[in-house]
Amino acid sequence: MARIFSGIQPSGELHIGNYLGAIKNWVELQYRHECIYSIVDYHAITGNYEPEDLRRRTWDMAVSLLAAGLDPEKCTLFVQSMVPEHTELAWIFNTVTPLGELERQTQYKDKASRQESVLAGLLNYPVLQAADILIYRAELVPVGEDQVQHLELSREVARRWNAKFGVDYFPEPQPLLSPTRRIMGLDGQAKMSKSMGNTIGLLEAPEAVWEKLRPAVTDPARVRRTDPGTPEVCNIYHLHRAFSEPATVEHVAGQCRTAGWGCIECKKVLYESMMRELTPIRERAAELRARPERIAEILHAGAERCRTLARETLREVKERMGLAG
Ligand code: SF4
Repeated sequence: MARIFSGIQPSGELHIGNYLGAIKNWVELQYRHECIYSIVDYHAITGNYEPEDLRRRTWDMAVSLLAAGLDPEKCTLFVQSMVPEHTELAWIFNTVTPLGELERQTQYKDKASRQESVLAGLLNYPVLQAADILIYRAELVPVGEDQVQHLELSREVARRWNAKFGVDYFPEPQPLLSPTRRIMGLDGQAKMSKSMGNTIGLLEAPEAVWEKLRPAVTDPARVRRTDPGTPEVCNIYHLHRAFSEPATVEHVAGQCRTAGWGCIECKKVLYESMMRELTPIRERAAELRARPERIAEILHAGAERCRTLARETLREVKERMGLAG
């Protein structure tokens, strides 16, 4: 059974973009692999933030992940800062990572170009990411397309450390190319993301979901009810593919191409499909929120297990490097 590591930023409650794009896959992977999942709060402090807000967003993310189907009996879930060994290994990796490699990272260049004063944490972010993965000697990492370059850096760090200390200790983690979907926002313009304000929350009330779906952008060619459309260019169709049964998806495509129905009818069917999947998740979240001690217990048990694994890695790494244990 391969070991998998993946992390998610504590951005508060999940939205359906990160649910369909990553977390639904995490849930499936927990039945086939040894999965370690982390809410990466050390990564979240590389920008401006309010401490109380970070605490709340971390908690909300834990609720969302568990409600979405992560099962603490099947996987390990923890908050990154509860296992500070990640940062110790990151420091060690800083000593084998060339500055040029970090400066070449696209995400760094994008973010740094928008800031007047760039923090070192932003530059070193991928080194901490390498430590997150390699401290568990994980072999597989489910990645989105925007993370492939960072994973390549983790592989490079593993190679360099192994070469420098003459051992084959860290595996080169492989990307797990999963059937993840890139979900566009309701504006149909950009990837669904909280910063764009174009999301539907995974735990949002049914009325609020409909209020967002109703005006959502569709195929611009469907100006009148009688104009035929092209489902493939419509975000609502892609959401059908994620939430509706295959027969319904086929029906949607046919109705769209022949102007057999209007977009509002199409959205009502989507809404029903979404509710079938999201209602049990919302109910589980409400149950979890009523038992905060259970969430704390799950996160502590996850951190406890991870600390044991992380300490063992650090012990072996430090011994090979001539550092005091
Ligand atoms: S009918 Fe459905 S798939 Fe076609 S454009 Fe309207 S909302 Fe999109």
